[in-house]
Amino acid sequence: MKYIFGNTKMYLTLEESIQLAQKISTFKFSSHTSVALFPNSLAFSAVAQICVNTSFAVGAQNVAWTPKGAYTGALSAELYKEAGAQYAIVGHSERRYVFGESNVDVRKKVDACLNANIIPVVCIGETREDKEKNTRTIKLTEQIKAIFEDLDFEEGKIMVAYEPVWAISSGPHAEACTPNDVEDVHAWVKEEFQKYTHKNIPLLYGGSVNTENIVSYITLPLVDGVLVGNASTKPEFWQYVCEL
Ligand code: PEP
Repeated sequence: MKYIFGNTKMYLTLEESIQLAQKISTFKFSSHTSVALFPNSLAFSAVAQICVNTSFAVGAQNVAWTPKGAYTGALSAELYKEAGAQYAIVGHSERRYVFGESNVDVRKKVDACLNANIIPVVCIGETREDKEKNTRTIKLTEQIKAIFEDLDFEEGKIMVAYEPVWAISSGPHAEACTPNDVEDVHAWVKEEFQKYTHKNIPLLYGGSVNTENIVSYITLPLVDGVLVGNASTKPEFWQYVCEL
């Protein structure tokens, strides 16, 4: 099974998000792929309703770390679950570096998802500076430890996405991580998981994936799927995914 997840970030309006979901709902995806769309919060309920009885699932782009209470503007994993979420992205680099989320915040959100029975898709990844200073493994080690240390979870209830920040298409001088590099990092990350658990943890790659290069990633044995940003806003991308 290969996971193909689309995070439309804040690229689409409410109406555009609905139109994209309606289009995707007419596509028939192969049984070897598991597809999910992560719309903005405002569009979430409408998209979740469109995805009922279709071959794609829906996920939240972010969740609050607390289930309920006086948290103006926040949306909990429970609220997303009630609205139909199967997944939630946690610790996306835009949350970490634009909104200042720490590894501690990320872990609290992982716990919140597990408590709400939502599968967190936890993003890890080094910055360009880490890459240049050769501190990639230090950064990833810290992020992985924060997620898994003393974490009690069932197999299949948590996923990780390796998303090097320098590869995300919206960044300056973005460049996709080469398939060889992704394969090497995934091998290392999967080894690192063994320090905490022997359960299988699907590991996705994310960063400038599009119709031109998706096959070069999803055919790699150590890549369990892809998390796609910009390209996932286009119906042509999903049409292409149908043909995989
Ligand atoms: C992302 O931000 O998760 C991402 C992978 O974006 P893009 O595909 O646009 O690089």
